[in-house]
Amino acid sequence: MSRVWNFSAGPAALPQAVLERAQREMLDWNGSGASVMELSHRGKLFMGLAAQAEADVRELAAIPDDYAVLFLQGGATQHFAQIPMNLAAEGASADYIVTGHWGEKAASEAAPYVKVDIAASSHADNYVKLPARNGWTLNPAAAYVHYTPNETIHGVEFHDVPEVGEVPLVADMSSDILSRPIDVRRFGLIYAGAQKNIGPSGLVLMIVRRDLLERVTRPMARIFRYAEHAASDSMLNTPNTWGWYLAGLTFQWLKEQGGLAAVAARNDAKAALLYDTIDGSGGYYRNPIDPASRSRMNVPFTLHDAALDAVFLKESEAAGLLALKGHKAIGGMRASLYNAVSLEAVEALTAFMREFATRHG
Ligand SMILES: *Cc1c(COP(=O)(O)O)cnc(C)c1O
Repeated sequence: MSRVWNFSAGPAALPQAVLERAQREMLDWNGSGASVMELSHRGKLFMGLAAQAEADVRELAAIPDDYAVLFLQGGATQHFAQIPMNLAAEGASADYIVTGHWGEKAASEAAPYVKVDIAASSHADNYVKLPARNGWTLNPAAAYVHYTPNETIHGVEFHDVPEVGEVPLVADMSSDILSRPIDVRRFGLIYAGAQKNIGPSGLVLMIVRRDLLERVTRPMARIFRYAEHAASDSMLNTPNTWGWYLAGLTFQWLKEQGGLAAVAARNDAKAALLYDTIDGSGGYYRNPIDPASRSRMNVPFTLHDAALDAVFLKESEAAGLLALKGHKAIGGMRASLYNAVSLEAVEALTAFMREFATRHG
């Protein structure tokens, strides 16, 4: 068996220990004689798993009791639309802070359901830096403020939670959730597609302040209403049981790693090693992002000569380094350094980059 070093932006690397455990338990989970995928979500065994996964993520992220934890479907993209349906009354407005591709998408998908005000955007700067907080035009009467703490494609990240006053702050944490401690109380609602830092695709983790679930905004089917999902412990209909199981294993793995503070220290070290390699290459490699807003999770970089891109990709793949091709909107390369990507993987990447620069110098 040969496992590659996987830098995919998503679906992304999972902890090997999690995959090995899932493999061992595939045919006979927890003494049931069946796979976890073959069991009723209403059965005692799966209900136990579901409750344990919630307890583990509550412990990891220190989630207070007045916040609900939901295990949903639809990807982050569906919730771009469902969040305004649930949080904004008809005719209300919401403020969007747009710092890259996903923030743009969140705003455009919300537009049929809420009056979208772009309170700040770094589009004019090609998203290479964050818009200065003192230039944001926040509306104190907005239903919520939405932002994207980490822009997966552009590689730009907020390193502090922005202060937005009393208006609930909504965060699309798809690509940085559980990568460092979270002060949940600063947020009204946090959501994340699982396929970057939590588990497989097809699962969305949501952390939402319970009082926001009481907002009755407009008529809609129960399946769209977060309050209904909370009231039924995310079992309003059949949940993604396999995703929930793998998320639970990942939460346990994160606890074994020492929790989110320890995970954050490792993530900082991984990102520092890669940025130091880029910045120390004498211009051979470049990252365009303002150093104060560089992402620890997704690192886009270009080669000094784009004609070498294809060679770099071919040789890196041959060296066991997977999925370094940049997003088509940006070009160049991108290395994603989620929780499950080890320091060893980043050492292999940076050694390759130095050696490549010497050989093709
Ligand atoms: C990947 C990603 C999305 C899209 O997630 P889907 O689950 O495919 O809908 C949205 N926001 C961010 C920040 C992402 O990284």
